[in-house]
Amino acid sequence: MEDFDFENRIVSPTEIMGENGDDNPLRPRTLDDYIGQDKVKQNLAVFIEAAKQRGESLDHVLLYGPPGLGKTTLSGIIANEMGVNLRITSGPAIEKPGDLAAMLTNLNEGDVLFIDEIHRISRAVEEVLYPAMEDFAIDIVTGKGQMAAAYHLPLPHFTLVGATTRAGQLTAPLRDRFGVSLRLEMYTPEELATIIKRSASILNIPIEQDGALEIASRSRGTPRIANRLLKRVRDFAQVMSNGVITLKTAQIALERLEIDELGLDSNDRRMLNAIVKFYKGGPVGLETLAAAIGEEAVTIEDVIEPYLMQIGFLNRTPRGRCITRAGCLHLGIDLPDVQDAQIKFD
Ligand code: ADP
Repeated sequence: MEDFDFENRIVSPTEIMGENGDDNPLRPRTLDDYIGQDKVKQNLAVFIEAAKQRGESLDHVLLYGPPGLGKTTLSGIIANEMGVNLRITSGPAIEKPGDLAAMLTNLNEGDVLFIDEIHRISRAVEEVLYPAMEDFAIDIVTGKGQMAAAYHLPLPHFTLVGATTRAGQLTAPLRDRFGVSLRLEMYTPEELATIIKRSASILNIPIEQDGALEIASRSRGTPRIANRLLKRVRDFAQVMSNGVITLKTAQIALERLEIDELGLDSNDRRMLNAIVKFYKGGPVGLETLAAAIGEEAVTIEDVIEPYLMQIGFLNRTPRGRCITRAGCLHLGIDLPDVQDAQIKFD
């Protein structure tokens, strides 16, 4: 079986090393610059305005949705709009309760602490987070036995912004401590085209409207992928059409990159093909499928499946994953007994 390289493929919605540093010029800094997600933006604008009027910190915010949709960007915007500092960390990076305590005690009044992949924090760290979020205080125990001493340490009123790929992965007590819970949706091709044109203008890349739409419709509903494809298509445009991204250059470039008109790459097609070839179209259990294609189950669940389900190529059933009639059609395979796409519930 060939090796898959899901993490570094061009249409991966997860961050490629160094791609999104703090100095990423493509990150919008204000709510007005943040394109799409209208419901989320409208609600946040009210919460931010109300908190500012009261002179209080913003309530804790939970952002959930697939990678690359703008959760980190939104936390920066919240901090910017509130006029406070942003501190960024992630669930797996906080190894011990002491690491979190150190981070919390270093915050200033009103600051935003962004914890990416918050579902991956350990139980022990989570225990520290509860009183910090609820009472803005932490209890620290030093020493052992008779020398042990407990301190109750007050913290500044901060805002925790937690991000997760699925809200269902959080423990109930943690989820309950967020005052605001917002779900990010995949973007429409029109919204992505607007993002691409905004990025192109920041990067000084001339682009035509139908060129932008072509890249947008192959970006899997994800701004991170749209920006990445824009940069790759720019290389082709430079060599082929005086640097201008036209519909034709976009089409040729994306074809060369083996990204089809729906944004699927050869790895997606191979995974769908595996379901057809080895499991007669499914159902096949997640772990079995993961083993068959040499990928981690969590990567399949968080990174690959959301888009395939969104476009109706894959069904998640209690008995496992199944390819749909539309998925088969796309691969050009005629398989009897496959189902249509189901409406999905999270
Ligand atoms: P996440 O934290 O959900 O993985 P990010 O916030 O890192 O996603 O966003 C990935 C990239 O996509 C960022 O570099 C940003 O430039 C771009 N981006 C995300 N959302 C938007 C948006 N609504 N408008 C414009 N650009 C966006």
